[in-house]
Amino acid sequence: MTYDKNNVFAKILRGEIPLKSEDKIFENDFVLSFYDINPKKKIHALIIPKGEYTDLDDFSKRASEKEIAELIKGINTVAKKLGISIDSGKGYRALANIGENGGQEVPHLHFHLLGGEKVGKMVS
Ligand code: AMP
Repeated sequence: MTYDKNNVFAKILRGEIPLKSEDKIFENDFVLSFYDINPKKKIHALIIPKGEYTDLDDFSKRASEKEIAELIKGINTVAKKLGISIDSGKGYRALANIGENGGQEVPHLHFHLLGGEKVGKMVS
């Protein structure tokens, strides 16, 4: 699937949709993390790569080893900052929806980090 540069996360990355400072959780050269606009749990954060990748399959195929490592490490960094990691909290769920059957709505790869309470069954 061709990357759609008009998706909402691409616009956030380009600064066309402003991200309030209180909504930003973490940023480095490779990833950006911010709160989900429609939280499904007490804590609901998103982390996205800065590169243009539609989904996890696309990312696995085209991203560099560095980009892949930074995204995975970024999940832990964000979890620690939010106090939900195994080090600092009680754990959380990280998940990525992939494509139509996966329920993906925004076509820019993102991981959801859900926590701050028991997250419950994986699939209902
Ligand atoms: P998915 O279904 O995995 O593609 O999830 C997309 C997520 O992006 C949803 O949980 C939305 O609530 C969230 N979302 C959409 N627009 C924004 C936005 N402008 N800022 C933060 N989160 C957003």
